[in-house]
Amino acid sequence: MSKPDYYEVLEVSREVTTVELKKAYRKKALEYHPDRNPDNPDAEERFKLCAEAYSVLSDPQKRQMYDRFGHAGLGGAGGFGDVGDIFSQFQDIFGDLFGGGGFGFGGFGRRRRDPNAPTRGADIRTDVSLSFREAAFGTTRQIDLSHPSPCEACSGTGAKDGELESCHTCGGRGQVARAQGAFVLTTTCPTCHGRGSAAKEACDQCDGAGQVDSERIVKVNVPAGVDTGQSLRLSGRGQEGTRGGPAGDLYVTVHVERDEDFEREGFDLIHRLVVTYPQAALGAKVDVPALEEDEDAVQTIKVPSGTQNGETLVVRGAGVPRLNGRGRGDLICVVEVVVPKKLTREQKRLLRELDGTFE
Ligand SMILES: [Zn+2]
Ligand SMILES: [Zn+2]
Repeated sequence: MSKPDYYEVLEVSREVTTVELKKAYRKKALEYHPDRNPDNPDAEERFKLCAEAYSVLSDPQKRQMYDRFGHAGLGGAGGFGDVGDIFSQFQDIFGDLFGGGGFGFGGFGRRRRDPNAPTRGADIRTDVSLSFREAAFGTTRQIDLSHPSPCEACSGTGAKDGELESCHTCGGRGQVARAQGAFVLTTTCPTCHGRGSAAKEACDQCDGAGQVDSERIVKVNVPAGVDTGQSLRLSGRGQEGTRGGPAGDLYVTVHVERDEDFEREGFDLIHRLVVTYPQAALGAKVDVPALEEDEDAVQTIKVPSGTQNGETLVVRGAGVPRLNGRGRGDLICVVEVVVPKKLTREQKRLLRELDGTFE
């Protein structure tokens, strides 16, 4: 049996652009979607064929081979045996097409996936609190993690000696169907949670749960320059996978403590610099805190004569080290000229005298 032409399958011209192609495929996929054509094997075949055509034509290399040599150029590869594969491969298309409500097809993609296939471990999220300087200069932290892990004794199956039998509720399919209006909705089997199998006898290490609480310590290298709300991703340090699947990732969200001298704005530091009226008027050299590992470090800056309240004095490169390792931000001192609330008799006399000179 000869295969139909991929361009004809999607009803597009041979010069079709990527955008038009995607549009055409979405239209076809919607038309032949199995949930819209229940118990219609022709539609399902059509649906698979459209996906196959799209997977070839949306790949520039494959499309070129196909244009030159036809189906023979693809070496007989491609084709989808399982509708679930289509959903997992074209998630970006189906994500906005069927997800987010509106059609009620959500969850279809998981319907026929093998529930006993290797599964990637879950991602784990945790938080870490850092002092202002730890965040600025980077640090290393040991984080205690406590979370469920797949039970080693039963490889996460929950069955003693790994002995399983077909689930009685769903007959091993892992899904149960129920009619709702015009649609047949399938949901994960409540008895076996989609596995399709049940333990003959519960594993005594985990009481049949398939997972145990595990505790471990993970070393986290925090790079210099991190700020509140940023997450560090530690690839493969999440929950273990089951049945040989890869581990998930660990995400560590950073919280940085406040500092009394500085406020952060990206990699710049804002410092409120209080000066007296004579200092502002005459100019002065004043000490301001410096961001160093030593909390008491100071640096001397020059306040020019005639500095006004609210003016900023910038010290280049005295801010927070940049995350990419390229230098530091700036220290921005915002000048605040204070008016004294209490004065000695002598100070009052001098100020009056000064005041007289301005008239
Ligand atoms: Zn177990
Ligand atoms: Zn079941």
